[in-house]
Parts: sequence; C-alpha cells; structure tokens
Amino acid sequence: MTPSPRLLLTIDYESWFAPSRRYDNLSSAERFDLDENFSNNALDPMLERLNDAKTSIYLVGEMVGWYPALPQKIAEAGHEVGFHCQVHRPLTTIADIEHDLHTSSEWRTKYKVRGFRAPMINTIEAVYPILERNQFTYSSSLYAPTGTVLRKGNVWELPVSTFPLLGHPKTIQAPRRMNLPLVIGGEFPYGSSMMSGLFPRIVFKIIEKEFKAGLSPVIFLHPYEIVPPDRWPARFARDLLANPLLYPFTFSKLNFLKELLRSFPTSTLADFIKENSQ
Ligand SMILES: [Zn+2]
Repeated sequence: MTPSPRLLLTIDYESWFAPSRRYDNLSSAERFDLDENFSNNALDPMLERLNDAKTSIYLVGEMVGWYPALPQKIAEAGHEVGFHCQVHRPLTTIADIEHDLHTSSEWRTKYKVRGFRAPMINTIEAVYPILERNQFTYSSSLYAPTGTVLRKGNVWELPVSTFPLLGHPKTIQAPRRMNLPLVIGGEFPYGSSMMSGLFPRIVFKIIEKEFKAGLSPVIFLHPYEIVPPDRWPARFARDLLANPLLYPFTFSKLNFLKELLRSFPTSTLADFIKENSQ
C-alpha cells in the first residue's frame, strides 16, 4: 500500500558543535562541557514549536548519558525516538559502526529504538545487516529522489529527499551523501537543512510539487536551527571561518518550520514504513 503523502520531518538531535569535525576526538566529558546544557534546554521549546506534528527525532546517544530525560520526553510528546549514533562522527567502517552500536545498546533497547540516521548522511552498504542484528527496522542514511524506498535484507532504507533534475539515478547504493558527484549528477538535495538554510522558498515550492505528485518528502532539521544557542553563531566562529559551508546550519529555520507545519501533514518514518509494508 502506498501511504498518503505527508511530510516526513526529521530532527537530528545533536549539540550545536556537531556540524564541525573539530570536536570528534574530545572525550565525552569535554563535549558535555562544551554543550553548556544547550541540548537539555533546547528540547522543551523545540517540542513546543513542533506542536502536535509527529516527527522522527534521531538522538546522539552520548547525550542520553548527559541528560537522561531526553528520550522519555520525546516519546511522551508523541514523536519517534531514533538513533543518530552514540558519538556524532563519521561512521564508515564496520568496526566503528559495531562499536558505536555496542556502546549504545542499553538505552536503545530501553526505548525500543528502530530507526537509524547516519551522521552526515554518510554510510556504507555493510551497515544494513549490522542494523538488522541490532533490532533496527529502517535507516534514513542516503540521499535519493523522493519516493525511493529500498529493501536491504530485512531493513528498509528511506533516503533523505533529493529532487532529480536530470532523470532518476539507475542504481542507488551507499554511500550516497551530499557531494559534488551527487549534485553534478543533477540531484538537488533539498531534504538537507543546508539547502533549506540557503534556499527556503525554493525548498518549500519543491515540497509542494512533490505532494501534488503524491510523494512524501524526507527532510531534516537540527535543534540549533529551531532554538538558537546562547552567543549564536559567535561561539561557532572559529569553525565557520575554517569551513564557510557550515554557515547555513547556523541560520534560523523557525519561519520555514512554521510554514511547513501550517501547510503539510507530518508523520514519523516508523509509521510511514509500517503503512508502506502493509
Ligand atoms: Zn548530524
């Protein structure tokens, strides 16, 4: 059964410094200090802004250690609790993926986490059997044209949306991340918050168009784009100077979010997959 069109709005729930790779090798305690309680304080106002929309919220697992109330609050507000890896850094080897899943297994089991979103939307084909062994039912860790739903063993892959300008890609395999070959190949990765930061009107128009075609766009936002951290974006200045491509992640997406929620019905990816497989 093809589910009715809806906006598959997802939030990658990570700290304000997660877009930069400069903090990946600090200790978890050092990252906790850097967070300065942002990820704890941002959740309530973010959930308020989502109002009664249902979304999938992929949590960085080490934050559950820092702020144990996060997953319960998300579930109680009617959202799906998903997994954005225990530590937010590139996870592209089997050993790293297995280690990350091992260190997160306790809280994932407790909250029955079934959805996986790879950091930086960058993964490998070998991730799927590992996800299956770790009780995941789906992943959303590639970029591909809206409407793409792939079966990888017993795990579904529901990619973040692109809009193909030059025809559909013939094969869709991990990794399919946002890089030059993807864009030169004619795909506009409008599901990324980088694109909704740079081109909010265009992204909104594409979402409207996809709905009219009966499709359900998968897009992602971050907490720091909905609830600005203190001293923002000044506290991120060094990273922004080193990598200006990070700027769009510091733009407020609050008006964009409000317009989306006014215009489109939403659902979690877990519910969409359930309907899709009936
Ligand atoms: Zn992320």
